[in-house]
Amino acid sequence: MIDFDNPKVYPPIPPLNQFVRPARPRVIVIHTTENSETSGMARNVAKWCQLPPNKRGGAVSGSHAYVDSLATIRGAYDNMYTWNSKGANLESLHIEIVGRAAQTLEEWNDAYSFHALDKAAIVAAFWCQKHGIPATHLSPYDGSGTGICGHADVTAGTGQGSHTDPGPNFPWTTFIRRVQELIEPPVQQPEKEDPEMEYWKTETQGTFLVGAGSPIPYTADERVDYDAQRKAVGFAPIRTIKVPDRWVEAAKGK
Ligand SMILES: [Zn+2]
Repeated sequence: MIDFDNPKVYPPIPPLNQFVRPARPRVIVIHTTENSETSGMARNVAKWCQLPPNKRGGAVSGSHAYVDSLATIRGAYDNMYTWNSKGANLESLHIEIVGRAAQTLEEWNDAYSFHALDKAAIVAAFWCQKHGIPATHLSPYDGSGTGICGHADVTAGTGQGSHTDPGPNFPWTTFIRRVQELIEPPVQQPEKEDPEMEYWKTETQGTFLVGAGSPIPYTADERVDYDAQRKAVGFAPIRTIKVPDRWVEAAKGK
């Protein structure tokens, strides 16, 4: 099991707007970011939530976790609440999955989503154990009870807000089962290969992620130890691969 509170493995990128929570969280809310599926985008979304409102179209949302197929990023810590689901923020921990709510069931089953959902489930399992939250789907969420729900369940149950993420085809049964398995692992998992991951390292500029759009160089303070994150969940260390020269040039700002 991961230690999602460890800043050495999960360096926090807290949102600009976060507030001290009045009581222990009892609900985990799942979201989609409405970005296209991009390995490495979770960090960018977390960074975006640090911008002042006038630099992000007025939105002031923030989350406790952001995941894509490659990375798990820590946002706010659990003792803080953020603005992310009107009607449920005080009691909720939020997970933002980089992807779109409009996905079909087939699209939720592709390789990118498999890895992103797995990372979300790992964070959810950590919080279920830490806070005594049951790994069950609360649907709709009317402001009472404890468990895991979607932003759409908050909207439907409280009548507040209008968001319907993570969408009608989110694989709730599979996701909840995965969280339950992580809490009580059926068997010890061998090291898993993860061949789709693409990234490379340079000594001078740290680690860059390859995906749609230009990679963003990490500063020394921001560097995320993805191998440590992967080790915690039984994945083999990520491979360093040869990438096209244009990616290297993009990373160098040429
Ligand atoms: Zn949402």
